[in-house]
Amino acid sequence: MADIVLDKVSKSFPDGTVAVQDVDLEIADGEFVILVGPSGCGKSTTLNMIAGLEDISSGELRIAGQRVNDKAPRDRDIAMVFQSYALYPNMTVRENMAFPLRLAKLDKETIDRKVDEAAKVLELTSLLDRKPANLSGGQRQRVAMGRAIVRQPKAFLMDEPLSNLDAKLRVQMRTVVSRLQKQLGTTTVYVTHDQTEAMTLGDRVVIMRGGAVQQVGPPQELYDHPKNLFVAGFIGSPSMNFLHAAVQDGELHTALGTVPIGDRVRRELEAADAPRELILGIRPEHFEDAELVDDDTRRRGMEFEAPVDIVESMGSDKYVYFTVEGEKASAAELEELAADAGAADFAGAGGNLVTRLSAESPVAEGQTRRVWFNLEKIHLFDPANGRNLT
Ligand code: ATP
Repeated sequence: MADIVLDKVSKSFPDGTVAVQDVDLEIADGEFVILVGPSGCGKSTTLNMIAGLEDISSGELRIAGQRVNDKAPRDRDIAMVFQSYALYPNMTVRENMAFPLRLAKLDKETIDRKVDEAAKVLELTSLLDRKPANLSGGQRQRVAMGRAIVRQPKAFLMDEPLSNLDAKLRVQMRTVVSRLQKQLGTTTVYVTHDQTEAMTLGDRVVIMRGGAVQQVGPPQELYDHPKNLFVAGFIGSPSMNFLHAAVQDGELHTALGTVPIGDRVRRELEAADAPRELILGIRPEHFEDAELVDDDTRRRGMEFEAPVDIVESMGSDKYVYFTVEGEKASAAELEELAADAGAADFAGAGGNLVTRLSAESPVAEGQTRRVWFNLEKIHLFDPANGRNLT
């Protein structure tokens, strides 16, 4: 087992593409870290540099305290699991899993014991004599993981290992991966573009964009305290709503009405070269049908009225889309950030406010309805640099 440290690690390709820039990251021994971000943000390149499959252009990579920049992949004692299972079709599950141990020239008895142990952990014992062609996708991926764990490497590196599975299997395999990692306690770096996987799997999540780290932290912290607009838009589904807000006399004028600013933000605005415009961010679950809100709760927020566009009943709650009039967030920079973050229902790009209301709400399409939102949960961003001021 080992800790992994990236110290100002960068990667430029010969064609001039800077895929990864000055990444600093300390992964503790036994930790499960997720690298997440939109396509092309540099997560696979980062993982490949840790694996030794890509050279490091500058900076230092240390595994268990040792500089490994120039070490060959096979000398790093790391196991990699890819999206494609890359199993040998002519070999049985047992032979596939035994393969790395045979390469390492272990004796047959040890090999059998290690394969049996790994098969037990991954619930593959009854499938050991089958060939890959006779396995389901999820079972094949478990064999691929089995082949990685038999070696008891210092660390596991996983690049989108579940993305070839259908939605249901992916959810099941998430629990398998999570349990496996806890059981073995092996340092694991896991790449995904799926924010749900990122939120549910890791101890800590690293959010990347354009080759740079945006924020690192436990999933809940990233969710509650996104450092910038990009992280705010990337984490959470449906995405956070972003609205244009004009600052005037210590108040924010928005499409949802006049929003008071808290003391802390007021101080920030006064101290900085206060922007005249801000971006207001509100997550869908911080709205509620005003009819259902008790007095105590009401005091913590404010209300507005808007026409209901679409109601989607999810059983446990309702996604209700409102049309909001007035000016919405419009900075070009913001739209680019939101598009990058995959925020499809971005208020600035034309439209709808997404809310998650209680299932009991009698809301109906075509109505105009009073909606409450929680002022304690709002975020305010500086549109010039995306920084969260709250
Ligand atoms: P995805 O989720 O789509 O796999 P990613 O976040 O893993 O994306 P990388 O594969 O790390 O992204 O790529 C980062 C950037 O480096 C991209 O702009 C990509 O086009 C570029 N890149 C990757 N490999 C090479 C290469 N061999 N030569 C030039 N540019 C490359």
